[in-house]
Amino acid sequence: MSFLNTLIAKSLPLVPKSIVGQVSKRYIAGSTVHEAVNVVRDLNAKHMLATVDILGEDVYSESEAVAIKDEWLNVLSTIREASIDSNCSLKLSQLGLRIDSELCYRNLEAIVSAARKAGNFVRIDMEDSSTTSDTIAQYRRLREAGYDNVGVVIQAYLRRSEEDIRALAKLKANIRLCKGIYVEPEDIAFRDRYAIRRNFVLLLRTLFESGCYVGIATHDDYIIEKAYELIERSKLAREQYEFQMLLGVREQLRDSIVARGHRLRVYVPFGQAWYAYSVRRLNENPQIAGYIVKAMFGLNNS
Ligand SMILES: Cc1cc2nc3c(=O)[nH]c(=O)nc-3n(C[C@H](O)[C@H](O)[C@H](O)COP(=O)(O)OP(=O)(O)OC[C@H]3O[C@@H](n4cnc5c(N)ncnc54)[C@H](O)[C@@H]3O)c2cc1C
Repeated sequence: MSFLNTLIAKSLPLVPKSIVGQVSKRYIAGSTVHEAVNVVRDLNAKHMLATVDILGEDVYSESEAVAIKDEWLNVLSTIREASIDSNCSLKLSQLGLRIDSELCYRNLEAIVSAARKAGNFVRIDMEDSSTTSDTIAQYRRLREAGYDNVGVVIQAYLRRSEEDIRALAKLKANIRLCKGIYVEPEDIAFRDRYAIRRNFVLLLRTLFESGCYVGIATHDDYIIEKAYELIERSKLAREQYEFQMLLGVREQLRDSIVARGHRLRVYVPFGQAWYAYSVRRLNENPQIAGYIVKAMFGLNNS
């Protein structure tokens, strides 16, 4: 399958945008915040929470970074007006992290502050390993400034993550734990899927033992079963963790998690940048192309 995936990923720019749009529809809520609101409303009606994400990353001018900050402020007020149950997931490279860390912090603080006033929460997504330390530093700075309505992401494939988690546990950080989606070199990241799984479960156990709130972000049956065991063994209340999944992925599994009484949050990406995002993600990680083929032919996506 991997050759086919690579072929699809590389030839995607040749595929008409409308076809890419058709396939991406399952994973992306649309190009406007109002389309995202409609998707979130449907999820809420199925007793699922949401987190919205404005697609796009790697902004290289101050004016673009400020414009994205303003877009986020608009998203926060739209969520409030629509009375939907959704928080926000943002990427710091959108807010200027690669230009100037002060600019990024100013934008981030404005969003987190507006979210606090609206009774909402902001998750800082984790990007590739060139941004890990800076992202954690921005998160820590917000916490030092007294913001509690903010969380960060830790990637189980990074070898440094155990140490990061032990340090963040002292702050009782709110952490989304995921495997990690970028292609990273072997000296800093586990590459073997079993090693990544093992590390995920180890980190999850450490987080639960430290009393941190965890967003368990995975579609992997093995990890979900292990999470159920840990939750039961640690006698965790429903409010101490949540499962998280991507829009359009393994919907039957999603339903079964909710039916068992756990909280589940769906990641809802939207925005004008949906096409660039789809092409880029596919080129970075051609494995995803396999999911697109499956989606096209309706195979095994439950
Ligand atoms: C809510 C959420 C937020 C995330 N945030 C980040 C982040 O901030 N930074 C980061 O680096 N990564 C993030 N990720 C991505 C994550 O790191 C993984 O790359 C991704 O979730 C796939 O890993 P998995 O644990 O689902 O296991 P996998 O072994 O990849 O998947 C398990 C099974 O789920 C199905 N599946 C998985 N993904 C898809 C898909 N896209 N389409 C269709 N089927 C699929 C397949 O059937 C697969 O066999 C996030 C993931 C989620 C769910």
